[in-house]
Amino acid sequence: MTTIPESSSMFLLILYIAAVISIQQVAPFQQYQNKYTSCAQNYNRLNPSNIDIPRIIQYSSHTTTTTQHISSLKLTQLNGWVQDSDGEWSWKEDDPNSDSAIATETLILNADSINTQATPSLPAGAFRPKQSLGQNYLRDGNTVAKIVKAFVSDATTTLQTGVSSPSSDEDSNEEEEENILKNTDLRAVELGPGAGALTDVLLPALGTNNLQCIEIDDRSVELLNDKHPNLRVHHEDVLQVNYPQLSELEGGPLSIIGNLPYYITSQILFALADASHSNSIRSATVTMQWEVGRRIVAPTRTKDYGILSVVFQLYADCNIHFKIPPTVFYPQPKVDSALIGLHFLGPTRLRRRLGGVNPSHLRSVVTSTFQQRRKTVRNGLKSLALSVYNGDKDKVQQFLDGEPCPLPQCVLDAQASGDEFALKQELPLDWAKKRPEELTSGQFVEITRMLYGPKEDVNWEESELKNKVWRKMKHGQ
Ligand code: SAM
Repeated sequence: MTTIPESSSMFLLILYIAAVISIQQVAPFQQYQNKYTSCAQNYNRLNPSNIDIPRIIQYSSHTTTTTQHISSLKLTQLNGWVQDSDGEWSWKEDDPNSDSAIATETLILNADSINTQATPSLPAGAFRPKQSLGQNYLRDGNTVAKIVKAFVSDATTTLQTGVSSPSSDEDSNEEEEENILKNTDLRAVELGPGAGALTDVLLPALGTNNLQCIEIDDRSVELLNDKHPNLRVHHEDVLQVNYPQLSELEGGPLSIIGNLPYYITSQILFALADASHSNSIRSATVTMQWEVGRRIVAPTRTKDYGILSVVFQLYADCNIHFKIPPTVFYPQPKVDSALIGLHFLGPTRLRRRLGGVNPSHLRSVVTSTFQQRRKTVRNGLKSLALSVYNGDKDKVQQFLDGEPCPLPQCVLDAQASGDEFALKQELPLDWAKKRPEELTSGQFVEITRMLYGPKEDVNWEESELKNKVWRKMKHGQ
């Protein structure tokens, strides 16, 4: 039988458990509410100007091989931050003996050097999210950490493999390697920082020299300026940004990160592709609607394969990092999301893929065929061909019945070296009977060559890429 003292202690125990559970439930929301204060405190502790957080990426020597450069991407580690053997960073505050040892330590920058502990800032109490601006804020620290790690991985991979710089157009491997060695900086640009969920984690790792943000909502700009006074937050529309100019000011190609506003995803992506013509963008690690992400990486002969697939598989190496459920956002969107990594080829490699084809012409061919994706390429291209040949029906017929042009030497060279893109570039003889989703990006390049060239006076290696080609495309096209 239960005695009275026993039941009261049971009651107290139940009360205690209930209290612990409710504290755990309430704590995250209190954290959001108190975020501004705690972030400011956290930032003071992490502020690079105070403690010089790892932010210097440098190559050790200009004479080692590319592989050695990859392993010699380094961070200078100062004052109190220590990386454990498992890659996690921790703050060794009170160890008086550790300072001198840490100051001389050199550490490798890798995705694991990112602080995964931060709780995302929500604008709770400050302002309400605007649906019209695609404001779905990240509320989950784990997802933030995964996105930032993927960003570091994308940006450093392109540093290692090298996005060609303007002067590497001379087509010399040595030149290219030299230029890779000069890319000593990530030059991160965050699109749509909002209340700083990603920014708060990026800033301590990169420092104010290596990070700037572009945000259209003045409420966010104000909040971020208060929270991070030294951070460059541009009050601007991401679609109006002059990326080539920004990249020139920063001294090289930019690495983009962002939990994007989904209502303008495609336009942002096309603007980035255009900016890669001038080597202004190195990589992009961005969230988007899951279906849009699937279209970017879709293989031929699938229903997802379309304009986004053709364009981005031409301009970049693309991958889906992971799927993101609606639950990690506030407010929750109605769709799943994807984190996509784009490693842009840069002008030299892109030019080799195009072999002299003008990207504006390619755009006309791709849009004409996919606008009628259930029809054959022959039917899709008829009216475009008529306008290219000024209404000359015989020439149109010749083109549509014609054999593919011989592949240019740069494509043949790429094929010989086993380049996967080039290996799928040759057109079959019955190309005009195909449906658009059956043709690879490279094959669209070849159809464009048939329609607009080749011309004797075109120097394939030197033909210019136009700056703005794709960016006027509307979402969903
Ligand atoms: N990065 C924050 C996060 O993850 O919590 C916010 C992401 S929210 C999905 C998109 C952000 O992009 C918002 O802060 C919104 O104000 C901003 N935004 C929307 N349209 C924009 C535009 N045209 N130019 C710049 N920023 C824009």
